[in-house]
Amino acid sequence: MVLKLYDTLTRPAKPQPFRPIDPKNVRMYVCGPTVYDFAHIGNARPVIVFDVLFRLLRHLYGPEHVTYVRNITDVDDKINARAAERGIPIRQLTEETYANFNADVAALGCLPPTVEPRATEHIVEMKTLIERLVTNEFAYVAEDHVLFNVKKMPDYGRLSKRSLDEMIAGARVEVAPYKRDSTDFVLWKPSKPGEPAWPSPAGIATPGRPGWHIECSAMAWKHLGETFDIHGGGIDLVFPHHENEIAQSRCVFHTPVMANYWMHNGFLQVEGEKMAKSEGNFITTRELLAEWPGEVLRLNMLRTHYRQPIDWTEAGMRESKRTLDHWYELTDDVAPGYLCADMHDAVSDDLNTPKALAALHELRSEAGKGSKGAAAGLKASAHLIGLLQMTTRQWAAWRPKSLAIDKAHVECLIEARNAARKAKNFKEADRIRDELKAMGIELEDKPDGTTIWKVRR
Ligand code: AMP
Ligand code: ZN
Repeated sequence: MVLKLYDTLTRPAKPQPFRPIDPKNVRMYVCGPTVYDFAHIGNARPVIVFDVLFRLLRHLYGPEHVTYVRNITDVDDKINARAAERGIPIRQLTEETYANFNADVAALGCLPPTVEPRATEHIVEMKTLIERLVTNEFAYVAEDHVLFNVKKMPDYGRLSKRSLDEMIAGARVEVAPYKRDSTDFVLWKPSKPGEPAWPSPAGIATPGRPGWHIECSAMAWKHLGETFDIHGGGIDLVFPHHENEIAQSRCVFHTPVMANYWMHNGFLQVEGEKMAKSEGNFITTRELLAEWPGEVLRLNMLRTHYRQPIDWTEAGMRESKRTLDHWYELTDDVAPGYLCADMHDAVSDDLNTPKALAALHELRSEAGKGSKGAAAGLKASAHLIGLLQMTTRQWAAWRPKSLAIDKAHVECLIEARNAARKAKNFKEADRIRDELKAMGIELEDKPDGTTIWKVRR
């Protein structure tokens, strides 16, 4: 089956066949992290989803014929604010966050993208684009800012399906006074002393810094060209980020499209609620990786189709772990065999990973009945989506970080606490609970015993 993808821009009734501009160089850009804090589990979703697509494209066109660009946003007001809050230099914050991000996504079994450009290393390209937009009157200078003049682009709003009138009506009341229209957006802005700054374009004397949207237009241009095949990111980026990337790139290059396929992953929520620091259900990828092997996170993510919202649950993680335990057991010492056709067709159908996993479950039951071919097929097919990358022995030896340190001691304390509870010495039981809590371990008491339910980092 040929690869079919769903394009957010044209919103077809069904996913459409994918036709690359140049099959010898299939080009994909995905908006990467803004590096100021640990990636949360929602941020891991686009990384995993587009890694599956990257692997599939490499399989279909050959690894050397795919260019995958995922940027690093290392200049942003959130970064400035966090560095000031922590009292550390911006560069230290961005380097530290990037290193953490890299370690996390490697643990999730993601291949490194072909290029990982940093915004701060593409200021020259951003300024070139801005200068051209000003020259062609798509942008204007006002009070040391450069703004994109949205009214100059008649079909602005096509990606997010918003009309200009709707956007004007929806604009906030306090519109910056230097904007000609409330919908105009910043390409460049002046920096105050102490903020990151570069010499400004378009004859502006005050040093400044780029807006977020122009960063991606410039990096995509530099590494993929004026138009390319696929542009991806989370659904929250459709407006304004991707809408504005399209406006900038198309107006600079006078092209009908920026990318031919716009792909967006749905949002992730936790145990039925929006993930937010204020809700207390904010989970970083790092803390999950301390408790679970990365493949459990990956499998759990792929059980939901990428365009659907996903509800992240502890129960789902446990089930994903059991599935992988079983698969690893069945594929011990098995060399990868033939890729299963049903699996291949499902992934090729707009990354239908739930259907692909159903095909893997079929193979698992055949393998369970003793079919060596099915076990070999299971391994090869799981590889296509980045699963079963360890040996069975490595898998079996995996231990949660926190438990690996002091497992025996923790078990001893739990036992002592159970004994104290039995003897109705609740004071001692509480003391032990607190001791464990101080070690980052929280307990749940059930009628049939005590289990560790959360290891905090
Ligand atoms: P950011 O660092 O906030 O720019 O986000 C990096 C990527 O994570 C973007 O592609 C976002 O769309 C995506 N993202 C952020 N939050 C979530 C979430 N809760 N669910 C799914 N994707 C998300
Ligand atoms: Zn972007």
